[in-house]
Amino acid sequence: MERRRVRVTGTVQGVGFRPFVYREATSLGLTGYVRNDSAGVVIEVQGEAGQVAELCRRLVEDAPPLARVDTVGTTEIPPARKEDAFVIATSDGHGAPDAPVSVDSATCADCLAEVDDPTDRRHGYAFTNCTNCGPRYTIVLSVPYDRPATTMAGFVMCAACQREYDDPGDRRFHAQPNACPTCGPQLAYDGSTEDALARAAAAIDHGKILALKGLGGYHLAVDAENPEAVAELRRRKHRDDKPFALMVPDLAAAHRLVHLDSPGEAALTSHRRPIVLAPRRAEATLSPKVAPGLPELGVMLPYTPMHHLLMARLARPLVLTSGNLSDDPIAHADDDAVARLGPMVDGILSHDRAIHIRCDDSVVRSTLGATQVLRRSRGFVPEPMALPFTGRRQVLAVGAELKNTVSVAKGATVIASQHIGDLEHLAAYQAFVQATEHLCRLHGITPDVVAHDLHPEYLSTKFATEANRAMLGIQHHHAHVASCLVDHGRVTPVLGVAFDGHGWGPDGTLWGGEFLVADFAGYERVGHLATVALPGGSKAIREPWRMAVAWAHRAGGEQLASDVGGRFDDRTGALLALLDAPSTLRTSSMGRLFDAAAALIGGRARVTYEGQAAIELEGLADAIRPSAADRYPVDQRWEDGCLVVDPSPVIAAIESAETGPAAKAAAFHQSIGLATAEAAAALARARGLDTVVLTGGVFQNARLTRIVAAALADVGLEVLVHRTVPPNDGGISIGQAAIAAFGA
Ligand code: ZN
Ligand code: ZN
Ligand code: FE
Repeated sequence: MERRRVRVTGTVQGVGFRPFVYREATSLGLTGYVRNDSAGVVIEVQGEAGQVAELCRRLVEDAPPLARVDTVGTTEIPPARKEDAFVIATSDGHGAPDAPVSVDSATCADCLAEVDDPTDRRHGYAFTNCTNCGPRYTIVLSVPYDRPATTMAGFVMCAACQREYDDPGDRRFHAQPNACPTCGPQLAYDGSTEDALARAAAAIDHGKILALKGLGGYHLAVDAENPEAVAELRRRKHRDDKPFALMVPDLAAAHRLVHLDSPGEAALTSHRRPIVLAPRRAEATLSPKVAPGLPELGVMLPYTPMHHLLMARLARPLVLTSGNLSDDPIAHADDDAVARLGPMVDGILSHDRAIHIRCDDSVVRSTLGATQVLRRSRGFVPEPMALPFTGRRQVLAVGAELKNTVSVAKGATVIASQHIGDLEHLAAYQAFVQATEHLCRLHGITPDVVAHDLHPEYLSTKFATEANRAMLGIQHHHAHVASCLVDHGRVTPVLGVAFDGHGWGPDGTLWGGEFLVADFAGYERVGHLATVALPGGSKAIREPWRMAVAWAHRAGGEQLASDVGGRFDDRTGALLALLDAPSTLRTSSMGRLFDAAAALIGGRARVTYEGQAAIELEGLADAIRPSAADRYPVDQRWEDGCLVVDPSPVIAAIESAETGPAAKAAAFHQSIGLATAEAAAALARARGLDTVVLTGGVFQNARLTRIVAAALADVGLEVLVHRTVPPNDGGISIGQAAIAAFGA
C-alpha cells in the first residue's frame, strides 16, 4: 500500500483529462483525488504499488485525444487514513497560472453523429461539443479552465446536461462548454432565432453576402460558384485580388477542387482544421474571382456543428473569408461586428456564445513531404512549443510589423499568440495590445525583458520602448533563423538563409537576402544579395515596376533603366533621379528582386497584397519543369569578408532572352535557386557547418524552396525548412523570444 502525489504538466486542462484519470484510477481500484491547478493537474493516489505504477503508465500512454502530456512527476507521501473512493476535487485557483489552455478543436465524430441523429436530443444543434472537441482558447477568460472562467458562464445547464457533466462515465463529464438546445446558445439570423440556419442558407443560395459568427470570429460568406456574388464581396470588402479561402462540405468536395497529397489531406481532416493551400484542379468550377491568377486554392472543412449544418444544406463550396474590411482585424465582438460588417453584408448569422479572443483560421501547406504552417492561429494557439534549452528569465517578444504575432517564453517553453495582423493599422495595433495582455495573463508572465525588432518605426518596437522593462533589440533575420531552430529543436550554429521582403539591418540598409551564421547566442552576416535602391520607399513595395527600374539600372545602367521604366510610366525621370539620391534607402531584399522579375517578366506594375508579384511569378513558371528550365549566370564576389550574390546578369538575360514569359519565370527561379544553394554551400563549408536553414517569407515559394533544398541535399548538407513555426514574419516573435530567453 502506498500513496503518491503525481504532477502532470502539458495540455491537460479542458481536454477530458480529469475524467480520464478518474476512470483509470477507479478501474484500478485506487483511491485519492485529481484536480486542476494553475500548473496543470495534480493527482494523489493510494493503493497497491503495482496499480499506482500502472496508473502512471496510462497517464502517458492512454491520454485522451486532445491532451498532450509533457511531464509526469511523482513523489511518495504518507498514506491517508480514511479514503474509500477516487474523486474529482474542485480546482485550486491559487498560484501563478502555468497550465496551457487547449486549442479550439473541430467537432468530433461522436458529436457529429448526434447532430445528425433525428432521435438525439442534440439533433441539428449548432453548439454540440464534448470533452474531445469544441471551443476552448477562444472562450477562455482566465485559468484554471472551468466553466465560470469561460464565456459559457452565463448559461445554466439543464438537468440532462448537468447529469452528463457530473457523470464520470459520460463523454461530457466536466466538458465546460457542454450545452443542448434547451439550455445552451442559440443561432439567430438577423436577430431572430426562428429558422435561423434555414434562412441563412437560403440567402446564400440567392447570392447574398452573409456574416457568419464562427469559433474565433466572424466570417464573410458567399456562394463560391456565383461570380457576381464573389465580385460583389470583393467590392464591399475593398479587397482587389488577395485570394479568398473556401469551405467545402466534405473531403470528396475538397478533392474535386484541389490536388491533395497525404500530408495535405491529413492536415485538412485534423482536429485543427486549418485552411490547406493546394494546387487547384483545372476542372474546378468556381468563380475566377476566388483566387485570381493563382495556381493554388485554400480549402478547409467545416469545424463547428453550425458549419456542418450549413454546408450540408448548401452542398457546394463557400467563400469564407475573415469578417473585416480590407486588412483590419477579424471582427469577434457582436456589437463591433454589427457596426463594422453590417454595412457590408445582406444578413448576419450570429449566436449568443461570446468569443472572448479573436482567432483567425490557420493556413498550412504541404512542402517537401510534410506540412508547413504559414499562419499559426486557430487550432494551434495557445499550444506551447518546446525550446531546446531552459531559459532563466521570462520574456515577452513583440514580433515585427506585418503578420504580427507576439510570444512569451518561460523555462523551456515558448507560447505564441494567434495571428494579429499588420500593425500599421490602428485597429490591428489595438488587437496587438489586447493579445499581449491576454497572453501574459493566461500564462502568468511578468516579463523580465521585452524583445523587439530593430526597426525603430515599427509600432511593436514603440510598444516595447514604452513597456518600462529591460529591452532587447533583435535583428529581424536573426529572429527568422532562430525561429526555425526552435521548430527543429536545434541549438548548434547553422548557416541560415533568410530571404524576405525586408528587415532593418544594423548598417542602415534594409536587409532581406541574407546568409547568416547563427544560433540563439548571436549571428554573423557572411553573405547577402547585392544591394539596390528602394526608390520611393514603401511605394517601391506596392509598385514592383520601381524595383524593376532599380535592378535594370544596376544591370544595364541609365539606358536599360529608362527603357524598362518607359514600359510602365512615361515620366521615369524623377524615379531615375531617386536611384542615386543619398536619401534613398538601399536594400538587399530577395522579395524585392522577385518583385522586379515579376514586373519585367509578367508586366506586374502594382500589387494589392504582400507577396502578390512573387506568387504570380511562381504561377507563371508552373508550365515548365525545373529540369527543363534555362539557367542564367549570377555573379558572386567577396566584399569586406561578405559573399555578395549579384543577379544583375539574370536581369540582363531576362531583358534579352527570346523565350516566352513562362520560360523566363522558370529560368529566374532556377538561376536564383541554384546560385543561392551554391553560395550557402560554400559559406557552410567555409565555416564547418553541416546544416542550412531556409527561412523568411520568400521561402513560401515552393518552387524556389524545392530547387534550393534539392541542390543543398545533393552536396550532402542537411536542410531545415519551417514546419510548425511560420517562415514568414508570423514566426518572428518566436525567434525573438528564444534568443532573449537564451541570453543572460
Ligand atoms: Zn465531441
Ligand atoms: Zn442542456
Ligand atoms: Fe521577415
